[in-house]
Amino acid sequence: MAPSNTHNSDQKPGHGFIQGHSLIELAKIHKTPLYVYDGNQILTNFSAFEQAVSLLDSKVHFAVKANSSMAILSLLSKVGAGADVVSGGELERAIKANIPAQDIIFSGVGKTEDELLLAMRYNIGQINIESGPELDKIAELASMHNLTCSVALRVNVDVDPGSHEKISTGQNNTKFGVSLADGKAEEYYQKIASHPHLRAAGLAVHIGSQLTNLAPFEKAYIALLEFADHLRANGYDVPCLDLGGGFGIDYENLKQPDFTEYGMLINRIFQNKGYRLGFEPGRSIVGNCGMLITQVIYVKQGTDKRFIIVDAAMNDLIRPTLYEAFHQIVCLNEHESETGIADIVGPICETGDYLARGREMPLVLAEDFLAVYSVGAYGAVMMSNYNTRPEAAEILCYNENVHLIRPRRTITDLIEMEKNPF
Ligand code: PLP
Repeated sequence: MAPSNTHNSDQKPGHGFIQGHSLIELAKIHKTPLYVYDGNQILTNFSAFEQAVSLLDSKVHFAVKANSSMAILSLLSKVGAGADVVSGGELERAIKANIPAQDIIFSGVGKTEDELLLAMRYNIGQINIESGPELDKIAELASMHNLTCSVALRVNVDVDPGSHEKISTGQNNTKFGVSLADGKAEEYYQKIASHPHLRAAGLAVHIGSQLTNLAPFEKAYIALLEFADHLRANGYDVPCLDLGGGFGIDYENLKQPDFTEYGMLINRIFQNKGYRLGFEPGRSIVGNCGMLITQVIYVKQGTDKRFIIVDAAMNDLIRPTLYEAFHQIVCLNEHESETGIADIVGPICETGDYLARGREMPLVLAEDFLAVYSVGAYGAVMMSNYNTRPEAAEILCYNENVHLIRPRRTITDLIEMEKNPF
C-alpha cells in the first residue's frame, strides 16, 4: 500500500490525490517532472507549530531556505508568519511576499556589504551576526550610513545534533556562530550593546536540520539560556532568544509532524525566564507538503539489477545524491502485487544521479507515474540546470484550486539567458 503524504491523500496506488486532485491528471496536464504542494497542509503545520510554542511570548519565522516559492511565502505571510532569510535574494522574496520587515531575521556566516545594507535599509527585525569581522562590518556600515539596526549574536554551543554531517551546524568545528568557549561571545555582545548604531536584540542558536531527537535541542537551549542569564546578570539587555529551526520530519513512515513534546520542552526550559522567543522552522512546515511526480522513461534490466529510469533527476531533487536522503517513492498506476528490487535513476550522466537505490517497487512500466514523497523542503529550492535540463514546474493545490506557481522554462529560455560573444 502506498503511504500517505498528507491527510488528504488517498493511500491506494492508482488513486493518489492531493486536495481532491488526481496526481496522474495533474501530471498529464502540467507534464513531468512536477512538484505538487498541498497549501492547506502547509498552513496546518504552521499553525500546529505556532500552537505548540504559544504559551510563551513567541514569534515563528519560516526558514525561507527550505522553500522560497513566492506563492508559499505569500500564503504563510497571510497567516502572520515571519521569515528567516539567509541571502539578499531571500530577503527580497520575503519583503515581496508582504512579510513585515520587522518580522524578518537575517542569518548566515557570509553576508556581504550589499546584503547588510539592504537589510538595514529595510530596517528588518534582526540581523544575526556570526563572527567578529561581521560585527565590525555591520558597525562600520551603520555608522557610515547613519543607520541603526537590531543585532543578535548567534552562538555556537558545541552540541552534536545527531543529524547528517552536512546539515549539522552546532559544533565548534563548523563555520557557524561564535563559540561560547573562549569569552569572545561576551566581548562581542558588549560591543553590540555599547555601539550607538546597534541595538542588542539578544542571542540566537541553530544546531542543525532534521533533528529527530529532542535531547540535542534541550542541551543547546540550556547552554543558550545560561549564557543569556549570565549576560543579564552582568547588566546587558537580552530581550530575545532565537531558537532556530531543525525539527525533523518522518521521511520513512510519513507521520505528520507533532510539535507537542517540543513545545513542552520549550515551556519547561523558558517559562518565567522573561525572554521573547523566536523560532525558525523550515522543513517541519513544508517538508511533508510536497511531492515530485515523475514519469518512467524506460525500465532497463542490467546484469546485476533493474533500473527504473525516470524523467526527474538530481537536478530536480538533489537530496538523495547529496545527503543519501531517503524519500518514499510509489507508483501511481495500478499493478499486480508482485514486486522487485530496483534503483530509481534519472537521465543525468552521473552514477550519483538517483532518487532511490535498492528499492522494492511494483513491476512498473514505461510511462507509469511515480510520486516521490516529502520533497516540500530543500527540494525545488536546490534545483539546477545541470545537463541543460529546465527545472521541474511547480504547482500548489489550495482550497481545491490548482495554481501553477512556477511554469517550466524552455531550453530556449535557458540558452537565451546567456551572452555569447562569438
Ligand atoms: N535557521 C537557520 C539559521 C538555518 O541554517 C536553518 C537550516 O539549516 C533553519 C533555520 C531551518 O532549519 P529546518 O529546515 O531544519 O527547520
